[in-house]
Amino acid sequence: MSTTSARIAAPVMEVFASFQGEGLFVGQPQVFLRLAGCPLRCSWCDTPASWDLAESRKAVIRRDGEPPAKEDRWASPFQAALWVASVEPGEPRPVSITGGEPLIWPEFIRALRSMLRPRPIHLETAGAHPEALARVLDRVDHVSLDLKLPSDMGAPVELSAVPHAAGDASDSDSESDAEPLPSPINESAPVTPADWQLARRRCLDLVKDVSACAKVVVHGGTEARAYDELFEDVARRAPELPVFIAPATPIRGVEAPSYEHLVEVTEQARDLQLDVRVLPQVHRAMGIA
Ligand code: SF4
Repeated sequence: MSTTSARIAAPVMEVFASFQGEGLFVGQPQVFLRLAGCPLRCSWCDTPASWDLAESRKAVIRRDGEPPAKEDRWASPFQAALWVASVEPGEPRPVSITGGEPLIWPEFIRALRSMLRPRPIHLETAGAHPEALARVLDRVDHVSLDLKLPSDMGAPVELSAVPHAAGDASDSDSESDAEPLPSPINESAPVTPADWQLARRRCLDLVKDVSACAKVVVHGGTEARAYDELFEDVARRAPELPVFIAPATPIRGVEAPSYEHLVEVTEQARDLQLDVRVLPQVHRAMGIA
């Protein structure tokens, strides 16, 4: 491995093979590479275990027919690619990089490109870090971009401190043993509604000419008209972008949307000529990972 790639690492939360449960490629057999760490706090988040860099130091590698294997979570791109190959039950699959917010590790994503060939790479992102998105855009084959209501977001947290000593990395590369592990990007997460609007618009500008789709989580606790600002930005910036409305999972006080609420939100998108579809989380419906 080169010296450059040995200094790049990210905390892997889990690696497993499954079917894509969201977006344009729903139903496609994929491998999921879930990275830990997220500075955002969506009210409807269903993976809060992915937020914290310190909470668990193990990557869980799920291979069919075997008990989950637990490994040191800090992985080089090469190690992550080995894990991806090890969970594939057959031919190489497209790899979905998810989180957490994977864009806080842009250099890791960039380095994965050559390690994962010939697999297409799909990126699932919160759409909060346009600079990082621009950094990885030529290294991924599809982007699934969340469009978030600022009113659904708690205050972002600082992830700069990685509570991890040099030498804990799981790969055996002696140079990485001698190097401190990287911290997340220092691109600030949006805080105010104006910040979110700017980040959303910049992300939409970036994905309008590449393979991409948008996801809007809709719950029952918000007026349908609140989603207008998201749809209007799509209509102006990336009118061809398929928009998937994902009904929120009713957890931690989050209210699932009624059928009537989904119809109302959907019709608002259709009024703007958007290519909109309602897609519940297929994984949960099937009871699989
Ligand atoms: S961006 Fe994703 S991981 Fe982060 S809080 Fe929101 S839903 Fe959860």
